[in-house]
Amino acid sequence: MSSLIESGITIDVNRKKIKNMYLRVYLSEGRVVLSCPWHVSEGKIRTFIRERIQWVKKHLEKRKNQVQKEELRYVTGDELRVWGLSRSLMVYETSKTQRIISVSEEEIMMFVKGKSTPEKRKQIMEDWYRSQLKEMIRVFISKWEPLMGVKVREFGVKKMKTRWGTCNIRDRRIWLNLELAKLDVNCLECVVVHEMVHLLERHHSDRFYRLMDQFLPDWTERERLLCFTGFQSC
Ligand SMILES: [Zn+2]
Repeated sequence: MSSLIESGITIDVNRKKIKNMYLRVYLSEGRVVLSCPWHVSEGKIRTFIRERIQWVKKHLEKRKNQVQKEELRYVTGDELRVWGLSRSLMVYETSKTQRIISVSEEEIMMFVKGKSTPEKRKQIMEDWYRSQLKEMIRVFISKWEPLMGVKVREFGVKKMKTRWGTCNIRDRRIWLNLELAKLDVNCLECVVVHEMVHLLERHHSDRFYRLMDQFLPDWTERERLLCFTGFQSC
């Protein structure tokens, strides 16, 4: 399957034995796929997409709103994402410390006091996300520092409204978005590398992207997973 970009939207092009062209938006993955006959020209494909691009945008916009408006109550049965996978929350009562006990492939076990509020549960979950992220960020920084020949002096995790990460070049400090704990861990690595490349090249110049290509040849694939969430790289 090849892909092309139209109005900033990546569209997978799937050529197969069919008569007509079809454009589909897969809302759960935020993916746009064009199915078309084997020998149709790229020009015809582009025209076909251009005529329908507003429709595609409308669908993707709807998805973005759904993702952002998702109000969780943090009760048993809620679906939460951890490292790209959806898991069911199981809430149990405890008289001891309120915390996340374990996270398996299917479940997240949370122990709370009887009168805990959704806000408190959210905070417990976020503290856990933060600790997981910090662990993984540490791993990635240690991996990439010798490969890139840079040193990160400090890093942190915080909630950010529009960006996946930021880099303070002078202080050699990077900040990563708490939301990254919900996505595939490859996305986190891509953002960490992006911020670390800024220690070598301040601007998103040709050199910046050459360095990205050199260190992480599949970075565009990884960024595609990020771009559907409505956040941007720095
Ligand atoms: Zn950047």
